[in-house]
Amino acid sequence: MIGAGLAGSEAALAAARLGVRVRLHEMRPVKMTPAHRTGNFAELVCSTSLGGEGELQAKGLLQAELRSVGGAIVSAADESRVPAGNALAVDRDEFSARVTRLVREHPLIEVVPGEVGAVPEGIAVIATGPLTTGALAADLMRLTGSERLSFYDAAAPVIAFESINLEVAWRAGRYDQSADYINCPFTKEEYLRFFEALEQARSHTPHDWEKLDFFEGCMPIEEIARRGVDTPRFGPMSPKGLDDPRTGRWPYAVAQLRQEDKEGRMWSLVGFQTGLKWGDQKAVVQLIPGLENAEIVRYGVMHRNTYLNAPEVLDSTLQLRADPTKFVAGVLAGTEGYLESAATGWLAGTNAARLALGLPPLTPPAESMLGGLVRYLASANPKGFQPMNVNWALVPELPAPEPGPNGKVRKLGKREKRPVMFRRGLNAFVDWAREEAGLRVAALPVPP
Ligand code: FAD
Repeated sequence: MIGAGLAGSEAALAAARLGVRVRLHEMRPVKMTPAHRTGNFAELVCSTSLGGEGELQAKGLLQAELRSVGGAIVSAADESRVPAGNALAVDRDEFSARVTRLVREHPLIEVVPGEVGAVPEGIAVIATGPLTTGALAADLMRLTGSERLSFYDAAAPVIAFESINLEVAWRAGRYDQSADYINCPFTKEEYLRFFEALEQARSHTPHDWEKLDFFEGCMPIEEIARRGVDTPRFGPMSPKGLDDPRTGRWPYAVAQLRQEDKEGRMWSLVGFQTGLKWGDQKAVVQLIPGLENAEIVRYGVMHRNTYLNAPEVLDSTLQLRADPTKFVAGVLAGTEGYLESAATGWLAGTNAARLALGLPPLTPPAESMLGGLVRYLASANPKGFQPMNVNWALVPELPAPEPGPNGKVRKLGKREKRPVMFRRGLNAFVDWAREEAGLRVAALPVPP
């Protein structure tokens, strides 16, 4: 296993728990990354939160799933938690010291210090994260194809389909091409109001090593706007070839959304990659007609990041299609976030151990958050693929309720739906872990 970060530490411990010997390579502190400060394993490079807890939170479900199978990262987090309202936040140093101890003291894990420059022979988990070093990245490109590895995020916001107002936005392709896009039409006044908000919105300030030279094709929308008031509407916001069914004419400008997942529950804003601060980003997005109540399931970001185009190269078992003895986990596998990295690390470590034991690698059920995440990685739209956080649009919707006495179907609110989706997901995961994966499962994996 390569990399003792969030994913690699969890992977090593998951495999060792199944009785398999692991050799874990970590380059820190011999060679540091630009973001890490210590030689500790599972170092948290920025915030100390592993996400919101409880039945209303997608991260809460993922935490509960990992707790049920004794996930090392979530249990180290539980043991080093600090008060943080409804979030699972930790004492940074205590947390990574605990994980380091667990890994170093495990009799089946041998830690090998130093940088790895090539994908190893035999069964391997590659979990070298967003700052994977150059030689290993080059070797991965040899295995997967160079165009399948990205070195930075230029991500546009992704919107939950159910929050798009289809009385304003409409489905169509330009010049009567197939209706693959959802189009949000602007009047001149609406466009100018949006443009002014975009001009005034604040961006994140990147670290020096994160400053990026943008290709013209992935210029942030705020940078395009800096070139002039009409530049966006002659670029990604062009209305050409789009007849608004409400007026029969091309609008003044259009924001287009493209489908991200197979089921069409997540849609990304085309050409809207952005590094705006999240509060400002939400305010700007909600000025787009049809997105007044948009729920952003992933915010746009612009930063340095190394990750594979997962839908082109990975199976939902986290095996590389080009070589199924190699597993990939964490940010390198196309996830975003500490908890998501740990969760994919757990699955990659479990599946690598199963392969070593002569058992088939597995995919968790679609209703579980981990199952939803890895299925998304394997089946998302590969065009402009960007790393993904967990969110409720990754798991199937609940069946529509029966119509009431008046014949109408009552729409369930989030607070009603999510606890049901939480229990459905956790039960499915626990049954799968016990029956299909043959794992010992905690008696009562309920959130605190
Ligand atoms: P890492 O935790 O980075 O682990 C990878 C490990 O591999 C490292 O220990 C590294 O030293 C080692 N390594 C790399 N190359 C080699 C090599 N060739 N040989 C041997 N070892 C190697 N997520 C959040 O949820 N919240 C945040 O606040 C947050 N902030 C972030 C800030 C920054 C600056 C970055 C870059 C990312 C941030 N992320 C954050 C995203 C992501 O969740 C974290 O980066 C997370 O640590 C990823 O886990 P990982 O296991 O994939 O990688």
